[in-house]
Amino acid sequence: MSNPTTTSDPILPEVKMNLAPPSAPITGRVVSNDMCLKGKSNSYVRHTEIDITGTAIAGNFIVGQSFGVIAPGVDEKGKPHKVRLYSIACPKWGEDGQGNVISTTPKRVLEEYKPQKKTDDQIRHTLFIGVCSNFLCDLNPGDEVQITGPAGRRFLLPANTADHDYIFLATGTGIAPFRGMVKELLENPEGPCKSQIHLVMGAPYDTDLLYDELFADFATKHDNFHYHTAISREIRPDGSRGIYTHHCIDEKIETFRPLLENERTLIYICGIQGMQTGLYQVLATNGLSDAYLTIADDWADLNPKDWPWAEIKRNVRPTPRCMVEVY
Ligand SMILES: Cc1cc2nc3c(=O)[nH]c(=O)nc-3n(C[C@H](O)[C@H](O)[C@H](O)COP(=O)(O)OP(=O)(O)OC[C@H]3O[C@@H](n4cnc5c(N)ncnc54)[C@H](O)[C@@H]3O)c2cc1C
Repeated sequence: MSNPTTTSDPILPEVKMNLAPPSAPITGRVVSNDMCLKGKSNSYVRHTEIDITGTAIAGNFIVGQSFGVIAPGVDEKGKPHKVRLYSIACPKWGEDGQGNVISTTPKRVLEEYKPQKKTDDQIRHTLFIGVCSNFLCDLNPGDEVQITGPAGRRFLLPANTADHDYIFLATGTGIAPFRGMVKELLENPEGPCKSQIHLVMGAPYDTDLLYDELFADFATKHDNFHYHTAISREIRPDGSRGIYTHHCIDEKIETFRPLLENERTLIYICGIQGMQTGLYQVLATNGLSDAYLTIADDWADLNPKDWPWAEIKRNVRPTPRCMVEVY
């Protein structure tokens, strides 16, 4: 167990790591690979289930961890493709109840080529197709996948889940671990967790929401589960502009304040790099940052609304009660 620094800090469970290293990946077999977007969208995101029965990882992962995938073939230097990480989207008992089927939420990286450094071709603008995300999304039931891991020991549910309440904030495929965590909390074979659970899912358009039906269904069945959506690029019915996940917390601060003031509460943030900074400002502006953030001394007198955006990551750090996984 990791040592908490205050009584309200979460005690995280021990985890197993790197049971299958990149030098000796295990072979999984795809069980299903279905779209998990709410509607027609500019992006392509799937829910991929992989059977790992009989391998070192079976039954030895927990939600919040990731696994690695090695796409077949070689890169432009002729070397085998490097491992890419994908968040586990199922509870620790897997999709099958036995820990033998893991899942994740791959999103195809499909863009126009953009030079990343000075030596890259500056005029090329052909289609850029991400190697591993497209490999995963292309797979059919029965296909084999080389898997490593598990990886990650910090972005985890606490060992005793009933001791805490939860605010989960996701953008895009950052929803993957929260699908697993919400299932772990509400579908526990020993009975659903009674803690307060708020999930805020951010997406550009309503049709980009992931696993929307699942979460809406949980919200109707469990009074303690609250599903919020933050749609950024659509005008809202009252004519106001779209919002990001942190705006959702700010707008509903009177709902969230008692929860954020309660020492049981943990915040989890997963998704696009930078999504955490808006939330940090909202917490600090509302006088709610003490438990969740450590702010640099020379920033103490600054109005959080004036924090220079590019410097937030360096001067504001999450405490153990605020867990961040952005990529
Ligand atoms: C802990 C963790 C969990 C993750 N979980 C998930 C998950 O659940 N689902 C998911 O989809 N992803 C997840 N990712 C991201 C995932 O690991 C991969 O980075 C992602 O799928 C892209 O991999 P790829 O092989 O398809 O793209 P790559 O072939 O690796 O291409 C991406 C890279 O190419 C470069 N590039 C990007 N755009 C362009 C462009 N337009 N022109 C030229 N070069 C470009 C950039 O350097 C970029 O890093 C996670 C990452 C981490 C660290």
